[in-house]
Amino acid sequence: MRPAPSGAPDLLDHLDEHDEQGLLAGVLYHPRLVLARGEGSYVWDVDGRRYLDFTAGLAVAALGHGRADLADVLREQFARLGHCSNLYGNVPALELARRLTESSFASRVWYANSGAEANEAALKFARLHGRAAGGPGKTRFVAFRGGFHGRTMGALAVTHHPAYREPFGPLIAGCRFADFNDLASAERVISDKTAAVIVEPVQGEGGGVPADSDFLAGLRALCDRAGALLIFDEVQCGLGRTGSLYAYQAYGVIPDILTLAKPLAAGLPLGATLLSDHVAKLLKPGQHGSTFSGGPAACAVGVKVFDAISSPELLARVTSHAAHLRAGLESLASASRLLSGARGMGLMQAAVVAPRWRSYIPAIIQGARQRGLLVTRAGDDAVRLLPPLTCSVEEVDEALVILGETLAGVSDARTSGALGSGRN
Ligand code: PLP
Repeated sequence: MRPAPSGAPDLLDHLDEHDEQGLLAGVLYHPRLVLARGEGSYVWDVDGRRYLDFTAGLAVAALGHGRADLADVLREQFARLGHCSNLYGNVPALELARRLTESSFASRVWYANSGAEANEAALKFARLHGRAAGGPGKTRFVAFRGGFHGRTMGALAVTHHPAYREPFGPLIAGCRFADFNDLASAERVISDKTAAVIVEPVQGEGGGVPADSDFLAGLRALCDRAGALLIFDEVQCGLGRTGSLYAYQAYGVIPDILTLAKPLAAGLPLGATLLSDHVAKLLKPGQHGSTFSGGPAACAVGVKVFDAISSPELLARVTSHAAHLRAGLESLASASRLLSGARGMGLMQAAVVAPRWRSYIPAIIQGARQRGLLVTRAGDDAVRLLPPLTCSVEEVDEALVILGETLAGVSDARTSGALGSGRN
């Protein structure tokens, strides 16, 4: 039995890796760290060990952990009106929709419960638009290699990684993949049958790869020529992560639909599908729906999160901390044989692992964790850093020091033979 950290409930007596494996669906990787609490950029596990969290709950905890102000908003809203279903409207949903539309190209908002569902709605609405614009056959989608859009059947159909898709086929028909940042490849698969092209302005799961400006501008032109909608999936890169409120603003390319989720309600399930007017005006009552969509509790937290993230001070801080993190990663890359470089945008950065060291990525992630830093994998070739947007420059330095020590440790262990082939 583990010693309970102060304030931890007796429940911890029952938590160990074997319990997790016995209780939770077998789709999770084990063994996992079991976390008990968080504060700012740090989290603590059930044994009381502290970690600098440069995963931010996969870009969700953008404002850091343990936010008493957000807890207060949630408590107050839940006590006033916790849920009312989509039979009725509620004030926080309207307040958040006003902010999302006034700050973007969109005229209307659909609320979802996750990133996948925000994309699912985007694909459905694109089919309505396609049918209206080009007849019954204009239903196809184009997506990109390395792209990730979620695990529901529609979102999965446009997600590239075969290991995610193939066990669950057949998925929706008519999805074609092109090479990311390769306009000629996209042009070959976009046709007058294409309802929409879906793309992440910065690929997250695919490795923290930013789109080239010319690529996004070219996709916009190809979509216009084919009468197809352009969907930007900003579930991971949106809402301040790149240093702009929306990533599309940094590129100056305006999509027809944009999806958001991860940080929107700081961990409560809330996504949003932002619609330009020409898409919004096609929608009719009853065509789409969800019991939890736009619930008052999640939206009240969303309003508070939006106001914090959209502050010019916070966005400027993201940009300057991102430059510091990037410079640090580049100097690690020039000092360590394990890294070949760094890439990313804003506080969505990746340390790119040199080809002959890629099988050691799990050892790097594990080594960082043992030294008190949480990072995660991105794509086949990178370690991804997604700190809270509120992290301090000292925390960025702390992460860089730990990562540097980890790289040296993995390199030494490899030299001494302690790591074997690296396939762990
Ligand atoms: N789109 C992108 C770009 C993502 O990174 C993710 C999740 O990582 C999703 C969609 C799916 O979001 P969710 O896991 O909330 O369904």
